[in-house]
Amino acid sequence: MAVRTRFAPSPTGFIHVGNLRSAIFTYLIAKKDQGTFVLRIEDTDQERYVEGAVDTIYYTLDSCGLIWDEGPDKGGEYGPYIQSERMDMYKKYALELVEKGEAYKCFCTEERLAGLREKGYAKYDGHCLHLSEDDITANEKAEIPYVIRQKVPQTGSTSFTCQVYGEITIENKEIEDQIILKSDGYPTYNFANVIDDHHMKITHVVRGNEYLTSTPKYTLLYNAFGWDEPTYVHLPHVVKEGGKKLSKREGDAYYTDFIKKGYLPDAIVNFLAMLGWSPSNNQEIFTLAELEKEFSIDRINKSPAIFDIKKLNWVNAHYIKALPLDELKELCMP
Ligand code: GLU
Ligand code: ZN
Repeated sequence: MAVRTRFAPSPTGFIHVGNLRSAIFTYLIAKKDQGTFVLRIEDTDQERYVEGAVDTIYYTLDSCGLIWDEGPDKGGEYGPYIQSERMDMYKKYALELVEKGEAYKCFCTEERLAGLREKGYAKYDGHCLHLSEDDITANEKAEIPYVIRQKVPQTGSTSFTCQVYGEITIENKEIEDQIILKSDGYPTYNFANVIDDHHMKITHVVRGNEYLTSTPKYTLLYNAFGWDEPTYVHLPHVVKEGGKKLSKREGDAYYTDFIKKGYLPDAIVNFLAMLGWSPSNNQEIFTLAELEKEFSIDRINKSPAIFDIKKLNWVNAHYIKALPLDELKELCMP
């Protein structure tokens, strides 16, 4: 089966270097197998939407040479590639799960949910799962707003396999009946990613390991629909020495921070490709084309990847020295 991967950023501002590292790995996993690299814009969280952020995403990927084969601006067989343009689909599939008894409408008010939290409930108590048909019809007639929740089994456990972290099992009783469709008709990320990855025929889902704990919910959704799951590849966190986060305040969080400081895109890509992955030999300088050949999932590391600025400086110096003089002069101009 031809490999298809996707980078699925949310248009919330500049691209974090950790996220760019994910984009690089996602791109390489596709290109290693002459596969397809898809760009999907995940804009269902309207509150976090930032004007101009989609252009920032294009600019970042473009300048790094991570050229996408399908995407909002390029089209493709499985579009639209912007989630806000796929709304009908999410609603249709959420209702299909309700039909199948794998999801249910929840009419609980914000006050009721806040009350549960106050009482110490770690998750939704399943109240609306037990509504009678008559109650549901009455609520709908009265136009009480509702969300749709996934119905998670209360017994047993759910397992999935990640190519990096191995088999992971979570007890179902720890999984919440999560919201899949909000009262405004927007899907949650947790639902939309499953619908889209399936319909876009994504073979390898590559993303940060912060998604490991939600993946059993996706497994349950794939099962509920009777769809095959993609191969999962979760990537280790990118942190500074001592485990500290890269931060906006310290000016080391975003791709553009580094560009402003004079780092070259090729150097950044080369450096980020080594964060959580190592080649089979000791080579440290790679062009993107070389990485496309050399990259392999089984050399991705589980432990946190250390963002070592000294190493980046060293890699960057290498690329600067290799620049033709006139290009260097051009870059030095204010
Ligand atoms: N929109 C999500 C993010 O930016 C995508 C995660 C994923 O790759 O599924 O974190
Ligand atoms: Zn409810």
